[in-house]
Amino acid sequence: MLKVQLADRVKNLPPYLFATIDKMKQNALSKGIDLIDLSIGDPDIPTPQHIVDAMKKAVENPAHHRYPSYIGMPSYREAVADWYKQRFNIILDPKTEVLSLIGSKEGIGHIPLAFVNPGDVVLVPSPGYPVYPVGTLFAGGESHIMPLKEENGFLPDFKAIPESVLKRAKLMFLNYPNNPTAANASEGFFKEAIALASKYNIIICHDAAYSEMYYDNEKPISFLKVEGAKDVGIEFHSLSKTYNMTGWRIGFAVGNKDVIAGLGKIKSNLDSGVFQAIQEASIVALRTDDSILSDIRKAYQDRRDALYEGLKGLGIQANKPKATFYLWAKAPKGFDSTKFAAHLLEEAGVLGTPGVGFGAPGEGYIRFALTQPVERIKEAVERIKKVL
Ligand SMILES: *Cc1c(COP(=O)(O)O)cnc(C)c1O
Repeated sequence: MLKVQLADRVKNLPPYLFATIDKMKQNALSKGIDLIDLSIGDPDIPTPQHIVDAMKKAVENPAHHRYPSYIGMPSYREAVADWYKQRFNIILDPKTEVLSLIGSKEGIGHIPLAFVNPGDVVLVPSPGYPVYPVGTLFAGGESHIMPLKEENGFLPDFKAIPESVLKRAKLMFLNYPNNPTAANASEGFFKEAIALASKYNIIICHDAAYSEMYYDNEKPISFLKVEGAKDVGIEFHSLSKTYNMTGWRIGFAVGNKDVIAGLGKIKSNLDSGVFQAIQEASIVALRTDDSILSDIRKAYQDRRDALYEGLKGLGIQANKPKATFYLWAKAPKGFDSTKFAAHLLEEAGVLGTPGVGFGAPGEGYIRFALTQPVERIKEAVERIKKVL
């Protein structure tokens, strides 16, 4: 009999902190409870029809049935560059500064393989997207946690990072608008990050998955818009959240050409690019009139207002999200994040994600995703009211 033994990099994966909650969720569903699930960061709104139609047409074209270019079709990379010009007024060279990705998660997970040697440090925000430390681990790197604290506006405090760590650091992940805290970053913050990265020769990887999911007409800025950014880093982007296309698996990385080339080198050895029909449909998405995005934003803004105002009325503290489709709320006194999530699930049939699942500094918080219609969100608030 084969003795199956996992490699250390798999054995060393952090414990799956959502396991308890997942079990309770399955248990509730099997009992037929009418669950209001606010735990999933996946749009409930379908992909706009004209994008689906473009895909239908593209899939009939035999030219798209062959291997794609691993860096992305020239027309896709041009559409990305045009989108950056239009949205951020940033000029990108589609030949050298744009790379297609099979979803931004793919690029984020792979980039440490290009730049991190065993023992090197990667600076990782926490609470945060779990792929940053996991990609680091798979490359043999060491994550240095940068806690995102409420008193700092959920921005990392660079002064708290020891000099000895900075000297060993190769990469730094940042993510604004932020999942899970819904915080935004200012130009001043990015300037500070760029100064640090230049001094210590650190590559900045900015994850901008939520740049188009903003409220009150306050558009988040691009990291690449800040002076010196292209000298030290890249930005990851995705069509997933912007165009309700999580299932399609397409994104892109843009910025410093040497960093883009390094990531491209890893990818050309591991995957063979994105199905060209998906790239064709994504070109249509990127060239979509902004009114479609305003409608999507409007829908989320109504939900945000319903949840934020509702929870505030119950005395649950949270910052009003300026962007993303998350609300990061404090668990009330007497609850840690897992206990509070379990209480809401069992007593109210409302599911949120315990903050500690995004890293230890997320303890004491719960994340609600605005991925249910307004009426369901209002009902969730009513139910929570009864069990506080
Ligand atoms: C959803 C999300 C992504 C996007 O993932 P895709 O692989 O492009 O679907 C990236 N970063 C964060 C923080 C996210 O929440």
